[in-house]
Parts: sequence; structure tokens; C-alpha cells
Amino acid sequence: MVVGAAARVAIGGCRRLVSSHASLLVSSQCRQMSMDARSVSEKLRSSGLLRTQGLIGGKWIDSYDKTTIKVTNPATGEIIADVARMGVKETNDAIASSYEAFPSWSRLTAGERSKVLRRWYDLLLAHKEELGQLITLEQGKPLKEAIGEVAYGASFIEYYAEEAKRVYGDIIPPNMSDRRLLVLKQPVGVVGAITPWNFPLAMITRKVGPALASGCTVVVKPSELTPLTALAAAELALQAGVPPGALNVVMGNAPEIGDALLSSPQVRKITFTGSTAVGKKLMAAAAPTVKKVSLELGGNAPSIIFDDADLEVAVKGTLAAKFRNSGQTCVCANRVLVQDGIYDKFAEAFSEAVQKLEVGDGFKEGTTQGPLINDAAIQKVESFVQDAVSKGAKIIIGGKRHSLGMTFYEPTVIRDVMSNMLMSKEEIFGPVAPLIRFKTEEDAIRIANDTIAGLAAYIFTNSVQRSWRVSEALEYGLVGVNEGLISTEVAPFGGVKQSGLGREGSKYGMDEYLEIKYVCLGDMNRQ
Ligand code: ADP
Repeated sequence: MVVGAAARVAIGGCRRLVSSHASLLVSSQCRQMSMDARSVSEKLRSSGLLRTQGLIGGKWIDSYDKTTIKVTNPATGEIIADVARMGVKETNDAIASSYEAFPSWSRLTAGERSKVLRRWYDLLLAHKEELGQLITLEQGKPLKEAIGEVAYGASFIEYYAEEAKRVYGDIIPPNMSDRRLLVLKQPVGVVGAITPWNFPLAMITRKVGPALASGCTVVVKPSELTPLTALAAAELALQAGVPPGALNVVMGNAPEIGDALLSSPQVRKITFTGSTAVGKKLMAAAAPTVKKVSLELGGNAPSIIFDDADLEVAVKGTLAAKFRNSGQTCVCANRVLVQDGIYDKFAEAFSEAVQKLEVGDGFKEGTTQGPLINDAAIQKVESFVQDAVSKGAKIIIGGKRHSLGMTFYEPTVIRDVMSNMLMSKEEIFGPVAPLIRFKTEEDAIRIANDTIAGLAAYIFTNSVQRSWRVSEALEYGLVGVNEGLISTEVAPFGGVKQSGLGREGSKYGMDEYLEIKYVCLGDMNRQ
């Protein structure tokens, strides 16, 4: 931990890193935050939505060796709950229960599965506030944004409840007159779903929605940093009528759980959202049992501002694309490429807008920027900023830890960023916007594509022709034109190059959970 002049202190039960001059200010804010968070967790506990055990075969279960992991509030450092720390044995039992549940769940009619999913959707929305509070508590994002995530996450369940009834096959004109050729789409079987901490609900529903809709059964492994939202969502799934074993949740020892899911021949598909490094490991480990794999990995999104852009739209769009979730999404703008003619104007207007962002505890009214998830995250951001500054980049605003301490970082804009700096090459995953200057459209496309990643890209221009030209030239799975927030359950989400395989959401997302079977009916002309 790089602390400089900072000291570790405990105030009002909350351990945090504060510089000595900020400690007085922090002490009262910290106490306030702790109280809010504590009353929220007490309410959640009494509502039955604060679950700490894993879900296996429809039963809430401790880890077999009774060990636990602590889930903490990143805004205060306080422990929210101790959850079961599961491993190979629990995962194998979860797989067995999913395998057992598969024949009956997949044999239900699509309409029957649809009704269960619809009930789950209704329950998620009915508990929007509590789930949002849980997300803020364990992940840190502002409550309004967290409640927005619940609506977004639930939308995948609603969408796939509808889409369940539209899994059409085909009848192919036969190649011989006494044959009939049919194509059936069938569920792949047991699915292992491994999800990250940045969207504790939506990353799960985006996988579990189409999996259950298509007739698959699922073992979910949420991030150990944010398991509580996943467990609450699973509790609501049980209440909605998802049968025992159709949805299991295990968390704890990630490599052990991952190994168990990957080595089991009963698990027919792995779906993963997370870092590129772990994704590559999982893909390799899926090879011996030849599993279907979908991966949603890291990005290095460019937000390209052309001279002919509407300045206001470009500032608003890039602000949303960069600073949502304090910059902790894989579609967050990682590099802001700005054309020569608008560079200075954009730098000024954008910095002004960033200055207005409110950093604070997610439960505090008006907060737009919560803490980063943990020490490793803030250390990475610090090291990227130091690297850029040491190579000649200039900080316009921000550039250091926030006086609130903990993992709060000042929303930052840096200009004169070059391609040799770390933040040009790797995901920052924090509230830092690097401005990179370019001259021509060709330059912008070359710089934008000069990365192994290919998830999201954004362009800002008022030219229709340029919108098409650049959208087509960008090697990315998602392109926003004059728009910074583009994810929706009705459109396909996913990357190219090393950002992943497969798509989530939309009708295309369903295909990831289906196998195609060709049936040839012969001897049709026999009387
Ligand atoms: P991030 O850096 O965003 O936390 P990770 O890829 O480390 O991304 O984590 C995403 C998910 O992958 C989490 O649920 C984490 O526990 C899980 N994970 C990490 N390492 C492994 C592993 N070796 N096997 C299986 N899952 C893993």
C-alpha cells in the first residue's frame, strides 16, 4: 500500500486511510457513513435478503468446513457479513444437483419456464430498493446508480422470459424426396457462470436469464467481493418458483470452484465475465472437456471526439462512458481521443463537467462517484497516473487520492497522454480520463484499433457519413455514436479480439445456451 503521509486510523469503528490534515473532516463523515450503512444492513437482515450461505439443491448451506469470508463495505471498510467459503466439494454437489434438475427443468414447456422467470422479474423489481442498497453496501456505487442496476439486471429476466417462447428451429427443404430435415434447438445442459464484482446483479441475470429460459440449469459463482446481491437474487428466484437445483450459488475459493466447474464433464458450458487473464485460463481449462465457452473480458474503449462533434453531446456522452461506476466497467471509456481543432475546447468543458462530480459514500444524497472496490484497484490507478505524469502527461484536475480516504480517488482528467503510457494500453478501471490528441480520421481509427482489446468504442461527430465509416472501421463489438451509455437487454453485448467470445442480451444471447440438432427423417414414402 502506497500511503505517503497518510496514516491508518480507526474512527467510529471504521478503518480508513486518511492524511493527517484530513482526519478531522473525515471523522464526522465516516461516522455518518457507518451509521447509514449499518441501519441498511440491519433492515436487509430482517427482510431475509441478507443471506450468507451458499445455495445447493434448493437449500441454504454453510461451507462444509464451516469457514467463511468477510464481505466489506468499500466506502467504510466495515464488515457487512461473513459468507460461506466454499470449494471443490460444495461445487461438485452443486453441479450434481444442477445435473439432476436438468431433465425436469428442460422438459417444461417454454411457457412454464417463462412464467417462473416472469415471477422472478416481478420480485426483483418489487425489491428494487433493498437490492440497490445491497449493491451500494458491498460494491460502493451510488444508491441511485445501484437501483438503476437492479432495473437493468431485472430487464434480462423479463426479456428472456419472453424470448423463451421464441426458440425456433427450422425445417429445411430436403435433398431427397423421401426425407424430411429438421433443425432443433436444445439447451446445452449444466452451465457454470462466473461473475465479477462491478455489476453484482446484472452480470448474473444476463447469464442466468437466457440459461434458465432455454432450459439449462446453472451453478453461479459470484465474486467473493460482492456475493450478497447474488444470494439475495437467488432467494427471490426460489420464491419465484425456480426449482431446487436449477439455480445454485457457490462462492469462496475461486480457483477451486473454477477448477471443479471446468473439470466436470457434466458442466457443458462456462460463461464468464471478468479479467482477460482469468478468462484465458478458463478457456484453456475448458478444452479437455470441450465445453461451450462465452467470455466477456477486459476492454480498452476509445471515446473519439471529432472536430465536427457537438461539444455538449461529446462532453455528456464521454462523462457517462468514463465515470459510470467510478470508471469500473469494461465498457468505460479508457482513452479519450480528441481531434486537434476541438482539443482545447473539449479539455476545458470536459474538465469543468468532471469537477462537478460528487465523490462520497454511495448512501449519501447527491453522490455520483463512490469508492474504488479495494486497495489493489486504487494502487493500480495511482501507478498509472504516476507513469503518465513521469512520461510527460499533465493533470488538469484530480490526480490523487480523495481526502475522504479509503479507496476514494479524485475524478481526474489528464492531457497530453501518449501511446507509450500504461493508461493508453491497459484498462485503468478507475475515474481517470486520459486525453490523447489526433489529427485525422485515419489516425483516430489507427490509434483506436491499436490494442488487443475490442469491446466498446464511442464516437462523437455530426457527420452521418463519418458515423458509418468509423463505426465500420472500428474493431469493436459495440459502438456508440453520440451516445455514452449503450447497454440494453435488447441489444447484443460482447467483444472481439481479446475482449471475448459470444454475446449477451438480445436474441443472440440465447444462442449461447443452445445446441443445434439436425434430425433427418428417412423412409417417408413407405406406405
Ligand atoms: P476482476 O479483476 O474484475 O476481479 P477477475 O477475473 O479476477 O476480475 O474476477 C472475476 C471473477 O472470476 C470473480 O468471480 C473471481 O472470483 C473469479 N476468478 C478469479 N480467478 C479465478 C479462477 N482461477 N478460477 C475461477 N474463477 C476465478
